[in-house]
Amino acid sequence: MSAKQTLAIDVGGTKFSIALFDGEHMARRESRRTDAEGGRDWMLEQIAAIARAWRQETPIDRCGIGFGGPVIFKEQRVALSTHVGGWRDTRLTDWVRDLLGVPAIMDNDANVGALGEARFGAGRGCSPLFYMTLSTGIGGGIYEGGRIWRGADSYGGEIGHLTIRPDGPLCLCGAYGCFERMCSGLWLARDHGKPAEELIKDPAFVSRYVVDLALGLKTCIMLLNPARIVIGGGISKAGDRLFEPLRAELRRQITDWSGARIDLMPAALGDDSVLWGALALAEEAA
Ligand SMILES: [Zn+2]
Repeated sequence: MSAKQTLAIDVGGTKFSIALFDGEHMARRESRRTDAEGGRDWMLEQIAAIARAWRQETPIDRCGIGFGGPVIFKEQRVALSTHVGGWRDTRLTDWVRDLLGVPAIMDNDANVGALGEARFGAGRGCSPLFYMTLSTGIGGGIYEGGRIWRGADSYGGEIGHLTIRPDGPLCLCGAYGCFERMCSGLWLARDHGKPAEELIKDPAFVSRYVVDLALGLKTCIMLLNPARIVIGGGISKAGDRLFEPLRAELRRQITDWSGARIDLMPAALGDDSVLWGALALAEEAA
């Protein structure tokens, strides 16, 4: 076990979290709600203040970051942010290097969450592993043989914009009936006038909801035949109330023709999948 001090940052749609790991022990953790008005600069100031204060007590060796939107991994650049304003083209790793003088590395939060659950959570020993975050938006990460599969342009695993309902409503990406448009927390709240966490308490709602959810997950299962699918994010906290009907619906949609397993588990690291993943990712920081 390494005794390196790793700073882990999770920039999400509604909050950001920051942690300091001593080796593989989470020694410190702070989480704050996103101030949508303050945008990027407000959040960077917050993160800088926390990191500087921690560094007064413990030297920091490296940093891993999970960002809540597409990241061009090879360029270490934020492509855009659908849910948090003002981040386009931000080179967050350069910013950390300037701030702390340590190597840093960044990927999108679904990929980082996949790494966290694969190494430390519900996906341990499972390869390939598919991780889906089901919260404000929907993201996906593919883990195989010890690493994240990112594809040619860093958009691998981005299932949020799979088409689930071709005749469905317009999504933020400009297409219609996307998985995220039909199933994410942001849109559930807008379409039904209640937070997703409330809606999911109603079995009648859940029985309709799992049909669309399973349509998206079926695509992942047919394409990847994962050893396990781990679902994180706020909506996944509903537990068996959601997972039991979802497994049954997947069993119905994936006919006996396919011998692919249906192994579906909630994230084991709760709100911290991305922080733990950032710890794992930071090993690659240079
Ligand atoms: Zn879309």
